[in-house]
Amino acid sequence: MKDTELAKLLQSHGFRGENLQTALNLLVKKGLTRHGKIRIAESKIAAVARIFKATFVRHCRKSKCQPLSDETRQKVLVDPEHCENCKGSDNQLEVQCMVPAMIGRGCKRLLVAGGSKGTRSELKRLCKKHIEIRFITDDSNVNGRAIEPLLAWSDVAVIWVSTEIGHKATAVLRGPKVLRVTRRSVAALAEAVGEHCARIA
Ligand SMILES: [Zn+2]
Repeated sequence: MKDTELAKLLQSHGFRGENLQTALNLLVKKGLTRHGKIRIAESKIAAVARIFKATFVRHCRKSKCQPLSDETRQKVLVDPEHCENCKGSDNQLEVQCMVPAMIGRGCKRLLVAGGSKGTRSELKRLCKKHIEIRFITDDSNVNGRAIEPLLAWSDVAVIWVSTEIGHKATAVLRGPKVLRVTRRSVAALAEAVGEHCARIA
């Protein structure tokens, strides 16, 4: 039977020091290991992950990652890479804040003019199916007539100004649902959209 080092498994879930002992005690209590054992069967790894998820909320120090007040699981402070909320990624963190901010205001359609191929696909990946996104790019060769219906379709439209989009493509993007984001990271865009939605009455 294949097995793996128990301490390494616990560390891979973000447990260190005192927390490592807490996690280990839980596994003993649940009958998945015994005190003094060094290794654990690989067949138990999925059960370990399930138990940790049900028992602990692992969060980092960032203010946006603090557990909600109605969280009933035991709080464990971990390094950002193990944080359930941000997984160490500012992009993920900000998109995770943006999505409920948008949906809470009835906004589900995001139009983005600009961005690089990489940042566009990252934004799309992080929004998953929660937000519909359409992009205006220079190579999609859009003119004003093509952009107007896109703007009408959108709930929020972003001109991502520091990135690769020409003035022609964005000239028709005007009005209260259009915002400009001057920084080029996905996190910056998501933060700006989230703040914009929070201001919608
Ligand atoms: Zn975090």
